[in-house]
Amino acid sequence: MANRSALILLFSFFIVACGSQDRVANPSEFKKKIAKNVKAKNIILLIGDGMGLTQISAGMYNNGNKISLERFPIVGLHKSYSSDNLITDSAAGATAFACGVKTYNGAIGVNSDTIAVQTILEEASLKKLKTGLIATSTIVHATPASFISHNKYRKNYEEIAADYVNTPIDILIGGGKKYFDRRESDRRDLSQEFRNAGYMVEDYFNKDIIQIDPPIGKKLIYYTADNDPVPASQGRDYLLPATKLSLDHLQRQNENGFFIMIEGSQIDWGGHANDGDYVLTEMAEYDQVIHQVLDWAEQDGETLVVVTADHETGGLAIQNGSKLDSLDLAFTSTKHTAVMIPVFAKGPGERLFSGIYENTAIYNKLRQAFGWE
Ligand code: MG
Ligand code: ZN
Repeated sequence: MANRSALILLFSFFIVACGSQDRVANPSEFKKKIAKNVKAKNIILLIGDGMGLTQISAGMYNNGNKISLERFPIVGLHKSYSSDNLITDSAAGATAFACGVKTYNGAIGVNSDTIAVQTILEEASLKKLKTGLIATSTIVHATPASFISHNKYRKNYEEIAADYVNTPIDILIGGGKKYFDRRESDRRDLSQEFRNAGYMVEDYFNKDIIQIDPPIGKKLIYYTADNDPVPASQGRDYLLPATKLSLDHLQRQNENGFFIMIEGSQIDWGGHANDGDYVLTEMAEYDQVIHQVLDWAEQDGETLVVVTADHETGGLAIQNGSKLDSLDLAFTSTKHTAVMIPVFAKGPGERLFSGIYENTAIYNKLRQAFGWE
């Protein structure tokens, strides 16, 4: 009996010793091992444009003190500034996530010398993953554009749209139809070019999003507006069904996984307008989308979900006198601010996202989670 206890004791000591040695003697090996074990098959990147911590807090209080972001086990913070300004814009902000480079405000998928840099979505496509972009702005607006286009200036919308035919993206949903098929700078009909390349191309004039049911393997473009989609408060309601449709469609055909970016574009526009109700209604919609994505990813089990923003907009404050059901919101600016931005992660690779880091590190962490570096 005594012998057996001694043996167990000795054995336990051996395990403890090995364990601590693993951590102390070779921390980089240990780190590598963790990263290796947590490869994500799919990544869903959710960007709430202009969604700083106050927008999140306001959205939470306005929703009875609950928000889907509470379901994330890992929270980090990123430093959002660009290469030429402490206050980033959405182009440099999204290019940091998409390409891993700090660049100047206005840059779409190019570095500070205006040289094109391969995006994570383009790399995913080359590696035979399925890809998608969804936005509640035009689909050629800075945030989605930075994942698939390369242009020295964010407002060259027709040039940006022309880049989209160069990557065989599987799903594109957003506004801005006119930049594809009623172009002023040339006679090209990009919608027809997409059809010729085998895409299903539909729009909100002809079909509601819930009527869209692409066959397995079919690439889809769905225009939600001719120009900017309207705010959620004016009836825009496609982001939830578009997200569901896209995740299900990509999952049904993915042997190699997928990368999709889904943007809540207009939280930012509420901030620029210094319109608290605009911010709250956009936050409420985006919270539902995050909730739906988490439910989907939990079911799937191989999907990493990351939620962040490019920057805060409006210098929003929740003022003294506010109550849960009646917030007194105030803005200090009609522009963006430089406050650090929360990052939420759940799923394989989630641990990579804790801590404080540059916005460009999100690119590296996403690639690491895929097992690409
Ligand atoms: Mg945006
Ligand atoms: Zn903005």
